[in-house]
Amino acid sequence: MHYPPETSSIMLMARMVATIKQAKDKEWWIKAFSQFCNKTANEEEEIVHKLLGDKFKGQLELLRLLFTEALYDEYLSRWFTPEGFRSLFALVGTNGQGIGTSSLSQWVHACDALDLPMLQREELDAFIDQLYKDIEKESGEFLNCEGSGLYVLQSCCNHSCIPNAETSFPENNFLLHLTALEDIEAGEEICISYLDCCQRERSRHSRNKILRENYLFTCSCPKCLAQADDADVTSDEEEEGEGETDDAELEDEMTDV
Ligand SMILES: [Zn+2]
Repeated sequence: MHYPPETSSIMLMARMVATIKQAKDKEWWIKAFSQFCNKTANEEEEIVHKLLGDKFKGQLELLRLLFTEALYDEYLSRWFTPEGFRSLFALVGTNGQGIGTSSLSQWVHACDALDLPMLQREELDAFIDQLYKDIEKESGEFLNCEGSGLYVLQSCCNHSCIPNAETSFPENNFLLHLTALEDIEAGEEICISYLDCCQRERSRHSRNKILRENYLFTCSCPKCLAQADDADVTSDEEEEGEGETDDAELEDEMTDV
């Protein structure tokens, strides 16, 4: 099953509490977490609703009570107040980076790289095809292991519709790589894209609709500025995908790596 991102968000919050509870230098960790981007109260409210979705948006208080019962710590008492808990939730929602790993796909890549005689290659490929089909029958299409993490440096990277760097997890674990896509001059801002490559091909209007709804900002990257005079048209791709809800888009955004 493809779990929605809030499943790992709440675990990330539990990890934050546990990290501080167990730390010798608690203040150092509090400071480290305070480096992540903060939002205004209204924006926090919006992010929390987005994360929980329409069906669960009234349940933040229930989550807070359960969280308090399980993990309350005097030192972190402000994280357990209604305002503090909402801020914590929004912090994870704003800064959490989805991580998808798959030992299976790593193994398949290794198989692909083998230099095999034709007959063995065909047998191996057929075996892998069948393996995927059998697994899908049990687990559905989504096979990755999912999680989310907080990365201090990467979360400082702003969005651009023409990014000069990209995030990846090539070692198939939580180790994040930020790779330059072109030469970057000293002093030049490093930007990643919060949109996937299909979304980046959409019109300025469509791109900004996604960014506003999911990240609460309007993009002013060079591409958006150059297209500022374009009519407010919605891309064909978006019209085709109209059945998709905003929440589904948010989930995709937050979990795809
Ligand atoms: Zn832009």
